[in-house]
Amino acid sequence: MFTLIDLPYAPDALAPAISAQTIGFHHGKHLQTYVNNLNNLLPGSPFEGLPLEEIVRKAEGGIFNNAGQILNHNLYFTQFHPVAAKQAPAGALAAQIAKQFGSFEAFQAEFVAKGGALFGSGWVWLSADANGELVITQEAGAGNPVRKGLKPLLTFDVWEHAYYLDYQNRRPDHLKALWAIVDWDVVEKRYQE
Ligand code: MN
Repeated sequence: MFTLIDLPYAPDALAPAISAQTIGFHHGKHLQTYVNNLNNLLPGSPFEGLPLEEIVRKAEGGIFNNAGQILNHNLYFTQFHPVAAKQAPAGALAAQIAKQFGSFEAFQAEFVAKGGALFGSGWVWLSADANGELVITQEAGAGNPVRKGLKPLLTFDVWEHAYYLDYQNRRPDHLKALWAIVDWDVVEKRYQE
């Protein structure tokens, strides 16, 4: 049985990038539904009892869609914190971003552009390959970079349920606002692991 993750912050802690109302629906309703659906689909399937990431790598159809959305949202919700002083990565991740993208600002611009350009529902991801090289990918639907052998580091949800109550059709404005609440300590830790 999979369970809904607890949020590491209060529901209103991420406003105005993500309002308490959006958190309530997104975490409390959408993510809870994916958890319930997966728990209903797994019994008797070949994926019963497997770790979530293994299900996401191997499954197709409804089991993949619901498992993928759980993994995606677990990574998404745990990478944020209230606006803090640290507004950019440090250490090895910062050096790799500078090396590959030229600057942190250039990386941010490419990430937001790819999230804004993704057609329909999906996710934009920053991941690392086995050599520590960074890659930005667009994933439709429930897609997760673990399906491509990559380690996911950071993701922005571009499904309309992630921003429509707060930003309506202004997806790029929402994506730009998310930078203020990224917990770079979490993202750096994912890169170092
Ligand atoms: Mn979502």
